Amino acid sequence: MSVILGIESTAHTFGIGAVKNGKILANAKSAYTTEKGGIIPIESAKHHKQNEEIVYSEALKISGINENEIDAIAVSQGPGLSPCLLVGMKFAKHLSDKLKKPIVPVNHCMAHLEIGRMTGAKDPVMLYASGANTQIIAYSSGKYRIFGETLDIGVGNFLDNFARHLGIGFPGGPKIEELARKGKNYIELPYKVKGMDIALSGILTNLRQKMESGKFSKEDLAYSAQETVFAMLVETAERAMAHTGKKELLLGGGVGCNSRLQEMCKIMCSERGAKFFVPSRDLLVDNGAMIAFLGEIIFNSGIKISGKKAEELDIKPRQRTDEVEVSWK
Ligand code: AMP
Ligand code: MG
Repeated sequence: MSVILGIESTAHTFGIGAVKNGKILANAKSAYTTEKGGIIPIESAKHHKQNEEIVYSEALKISGINENEIDAIAVSQGPGLSPCLLVGMKFAKHLSDKLKKPIVPVNHCMAHLEIGRMTGAKDPVMLYASGANTQIIAYSSGKYRIFGETLDIGVGNFLDNFARHLGIGFPGGPKIEELARKGKNYIELPYKVKGMDIALSGILTNLRQKMESGKFSKEDLAYSAQETVFAMLVETAERAMAHTGKKELLLGGGVGCNSRLQEMCKIMCSERGAKFFVPSRDLLVDNGAMIAFLGEIIFNSGIKISGKKAEELDIKPRQRTDEVEVSWK
């Protein structure tokens, strides 16, 4: 029986979750948002610093556990924004020192995939569609491999950036979704799929030009952006499923909250006789519970870092999913 705390701070969200025997006891969080403009890493890190103790207390309160019952502190080590990652890592070290408990470093992207187990997915291809990351990941021959990915920006950043130009604030994804519902006319946009990879920045430029021309409504542009870009995501995910022979698709990342994207995934899966899984909203977006969840699996395999090694533990802002050794699976 172990209680694992999980700290998430890779980007806009500071979250702390607690897990005991694969069961989520708490998933507390505070997210950095803006009225206008995008995410400023230093500001987001400031937000995390200001909220760390509050979120920690909340996580303890919700889970009903006492600090002393915690067996290890899992922390999101990367990939992510350095100033934000640092806040989480420092807080993990502070707790490790205070409670005399080891640290378990966790890869953020794998945590998104592994939390999918809670939805019943066993061996899925994951379409990981978040702010900075957009990848098609699956576990294959001893590693989590990236079968396809964006060659430039993440799909969430694409939506946030487009929203910034529309002047509707951060995060832009939910607002674009709302606008898109009112769109009626599909406007032709570039479609950029290369094998299992996609490219988004050219589409963004094209959208901006169309917006500035004043010839199209915001609603139609939002609708067309979603239809085009989500079709690209679903096409590459399907190709990865065909390539790996896997029969499950799992959605991960904040953009996965989008009901149109979910619908398109569902249709693709039903057409090829595959199962579609999507975690609840709280577990789709960045959160501490998924870090605690994967942290517990890693901890139970015997990986834990303490003492001087814990003090020296560093963040990995550019850590790639396929370079992480998976000795715990
Ligand atoms: P993550 O980095 O995984 O926490 O996801 C954050 C990203 O998800 C941001 O770029 C948001 O704009 C995006 N997002 C959140 N909700 C939605 C939605 N309903 N539709 C599209 N994107 C969304
Ligand atoms: Mg994420």
